[in-house]
Amino acid sequence: MSDDQPSYGFETLQIHAGSKPDPATGARQTPIYQNTAYVFQDADHAARLFNLEELGFIYTRLLNPTVAALQERVATLEGGVGAVACASGHAAQVMALFPLMSPGDNFVASTRLYGGSVNQFNHAFKHFGWEVRFVDTEDLNAVRAAFDGRTKALFCESIANPGGYISDMEALAGVAKEKGVPLMVDNTTATPYLCRPFDFGADLVIHSTTKYLTGNATTMGGMVVDKGTFNWGASAKYPAMSTPHASYHGLNFAETFGPMAFTFFSIAITLRDIGMCQAPMNAFQTLLGIETLSLRMDRTCSNAKAVAEFLERHEQVEYVSYAGLANSPYAARASKYCPKGSSGIFTFGVKGGYEVGKKVVDNVKLFSHLANLGDARSLIIHSASTTHRQLTPEQQTAAGAGPEVIRLSIGLETAQDLINDLDQALKAATA
Ligand SMILES: *Cc1c(COP(=O)(O)O)cnc(C)c1O
Repeated sequence: MSDDQPSYGFETLQIHAGSKPDPATGARQTPIYQNTAYVFQDADHAARLFNLEELGFIYTRLLNPTVAALQERVATLEGGVGAVACASGHAAQVMALFPLMSPGDNFVASTRLYGGSVNQFNHAFKHFGWEVRFVDTEDLNAVRAAFDGRTKALFCESIANPGGYISDMEALAGVAKEKGVPLMVDNTTATPYLCRPFDFGADLVIHSTTKYLTGNATTMGGMVVDKGTFNWGASAKYPAMSTPHASYHGLNFAETFGPMAFTFFSIAITLRDIGMCQAPMNAFQTLLGIETLSLRMDRTCSNAKAVAEFLERHEQVEYVSYAGLANSPYAARASKYCPKGSSGIFTFGVKGGYEVGKKVVDNVKLFSHLANLGDARSLIIHSASTTHRQLTPEQQTAAGAGPEVIRLSIGLETAQDLINDLDQALKAATA
């Protein structure tokens, strides 16, 4: 794709964005540049690269051609100015916050998050001196009240994992704007095909590319995408970005790079010094996955809707939490934020609670019982005894993962086969 093509559709961009024929060989598919370092043209070229006066390849911890192709593709699909890949979704959350936070700072986050994120925020981030303040983002006044002078970001998921909840991103973006901090949205579950958080006021988008973007459970990866419109120099809140940086002879990232400040900081400081870079092979696998993203997400959504509608009518099922159901409390938000579908992750409550929930997962034959989502295969897990096990009962319930809750990640199989499998497992569990 040449650089002067302004307006291709999503399906074209998911195949072509970031992926030109290889300049050295003409290879049409993006090659796996499985190498660590790059020869400089001469000493001056090397100096310009190291001074960030010219963007180029120095060392794969910072930038690699295969990884760069993936970064450009995801930035394009999300509508951002830049994106930086890293080793996993959890690494992406560190990468998103690292330029913003100092010891003693805090950020406000939705209670409805991936269980691993709740743990990371609550416990691991304490080692950096970062504090998380969890709030129910349905109560905007509670969100406002959680802020103080050292709050540096507001964090939510677009379609929240696991409970079929959709964040009111536009309202949260309003609060973030009032408070002068960026809204960060984890868009893993929706993908840019179903939802584009930047269109609703988000400033940074985070992905675990491990999930739907790759789409086949082969590859770990993460990504932070920047919309490029947040003004890091508007207040004194973000000194690492907006004051002279000691590790680049006093370079001021916000002043020098403007809309690309976050992207350059992430490459030149975060990846260089923290080192959670993505492997070229992983970027290649994810590029392949993204080529079929729209097709897979359409199928994921229609399968999920069929399974959810079946479960809703099932006598051994107490309730189904899926934003794609007509009677979901989040149906209006679904049609606003993700009109093409509500993705493939949802939960349902079994009658009989914890013990029956465990039996259902022990009796499925086609679904795989494991801790992942966004695979081509359908997956099942009993959240309270696994992914959300480390949380308190109150945190479990707040995250939509109470004792009766079973989470499904619906894959691309024949919908009727998935329905039949759940039906026999529910019957066996309550026999
Ligand atoms: C899986 C996941 C993560 C963490 O990503 P990893 O790639 O497993 O590190 C973060 N957020 C959401 C919503 C996820 O599903």
